[in-house]
Amino acid sequence: MHAAVITGQGRVELLEFPQPEPRPDGAVVDIELCGICGTDVHAFQSGAPYNPAICGHEWTGTVSAVGADVRSLREGDRVAVGVPPACGRCEACRAGHAAYCNVVLMTSIGLERGASPYGGFAPQIATSAARLIPVLPSLNSVQAAQVEPAAVAFHAVRHTQPHLGDVAVVQGAGPIGLVTLQAALAGGAGCVVVVEPNAVRRSLALTLGATHAVHPDDAAALVAELTRGLGADVVYECVGRPDTVQQAVGRARRGGRMCLIGLANEHAPIDPTVWLLKEIKVSAALAYTHDDFDRTMGMIADGRLVLDPLHTGTVGLADVGAAIADLASGTSSHTKVLVDPRR
Ligand SMILES: [Zn+2]
Ligand SMILES: [Zn+2]
Repeated sequence: MHAAVITGQGRVELLEFPQPEPRPDGAVVDIELCGICGTDVHAFQSGAPYNPAICGHEWTGTVSAVGADVRSLREGDRVAVGVPPACGRCEACRAGHAAYCNVVLMTSIGLERGASPYGGFAPQIATSAARLIPVLPSLNSVQAAQVEPAAVAFHAVRHTQPHLGDVAVVQGAGPIGLVTLQAALAGGAGCVVVVEPNAVRRSLALTLGATHAVHPDDAAALVAELTRGLGADVVYECVGRPDTVQQAVGRARRGGRMCLIGLANEHAPIDPTVWLLKEIKVSAALAYTHDDFDRTMGMIADGRLVLDPLHTGTVGLADVGAAIADLASGTSSHTKVLVDPRR
C-alpha cells in the first residue's frame, strides 16, 4: 500500500507501507477523503521534521476492521478522526486539568502511543478507536473531511467568545478563518470584518456572512470607521505569519482581546508598548477537545457552520505534492483541497 508522505523541503514521496492491522483497542479505516491543512503546507515549505502522522490529519472514511477490545465501533461505521477524550490518568488530568490532558496533546501532535508511520494521504490507516468519532448521518463526505479543521476554529472561538454585539476582526480567510468567521457570528458578534489580500477569498467570506471583507491595506480605516477610532473588540489571528501577530494587536481596541490561532513557524516581532498601552488580553488556541469535535459536527449538521463552499478541489494520491506546492505558492486559487486516495 502506498501513502504520500512529506519527506523534506518541497518533497512529497509515495512510500510503500504494509497493510495496517488494528491494535486490540484500535481500528483500521478505509479513507475516503483527507484534507490538506496549513500544517502540511508549513511542513512542505520548511522541511522541518514533522511527525509523520500529522501530515494528513483531516480524514474521514469507513471502519474496515476493529480490534478485539473495541465495543464502540463496528465495521462499516462512517467516522472522522479527532483526538480521544481526556485520559483521566496523566499528571494533567490528575491535577484536574482535563482540558490539558497530556495524552490528548501528544495525539494532536502525532506522538501518541502507536502513532501511524504516515498520515491520511493513504487508502487505509490504523488508529485507536477512541480517536474515531461517528459521523452524523446528515453530513456529506466533504463536510465530514472538514470537521477537523472546523473544530480548530470552533475551539478558538469558544475559548475567546465575542460578547454580544462585538466588532470582531478575522485576519485571514483560509479554511480556518472562514470557519472562525461563522463561529464568531454564531457566538454573538455583531459585526465581523474579514481581512484578506486574496479577492476570491474575500468574496467567499462575504458569502459566508462576513459583514465586511477588506484588503489588509484598507483594514485600519474600516475598523476605525466602525468603532469610532477605538479598534475592534476582539481579533482572531488566522494567518500564521510572524508579522500578523502584532497586526492583530494593532487592530484591537484598548482592553480588547486577541486570539492567536494561526501558527507562525518563526519568532514573531511584537511591540510590547502597544500591548501594555492597550492592556490587550491574548489567548492562544491549539487544536480542540474530543467534545469540541462532537459539538462542531452538530453545528455543521444544523447549518450554522457551512463548509461545502470552502472545498475547491479534490486530487488523487499522485497529485498530493503538486497540490501542496500550489497551496504553498501563495497565489493559489484554492481554499480547501481534499485528497481522495482511491483515485
Ligand atoms: Zn489541520
Ligand atoms: Zn490525561
